Amino acid sequence: MMLKDVNGYFEMVIAGAVVLAFLLGGLFSWVLVVRTIYFKITKQFSKTRSCDTCGKRISSSALICPSCGQHYPEGATSPSALIVGGVFGGVMFSYAGLKGIEIFIEEFLNK
Ligand SMILES: [Zn+2]
Repeated sequence: MMLKDVNGYFEMVIAGAVVLAFLLGGLFSWVLVVRTIYFKITKQFSKTRSCDTCGKRISSSALICPSCGQHYPEGATSPSALIVGGVFGGVMFSYAGLKGIEIFIEEFLNK
């Protein structure tokens, strides 16, 4: 095997890994979006939830448990921000991944 072939092989493996990473990043972003939307919907349907501290049923929109005073801050990261970020990341990663596949095919398979 010639050195040129070895280099070409390594290039192909690295390019493939980068493309795969982009595709996985895109997939992860879309999963995050779907999960966030799913939780947002299920949370809206159930009007009450059980308190993490005392176990009493409290309103799902309550910021403080009336029974024990446990605070429920409206999420460190808001669902809307997660959805927007997830869609943005999903589109970018998916585009980069698909573009990567295109380049990968042109570069290594269509010779
Ligand atoms: Zn409580």
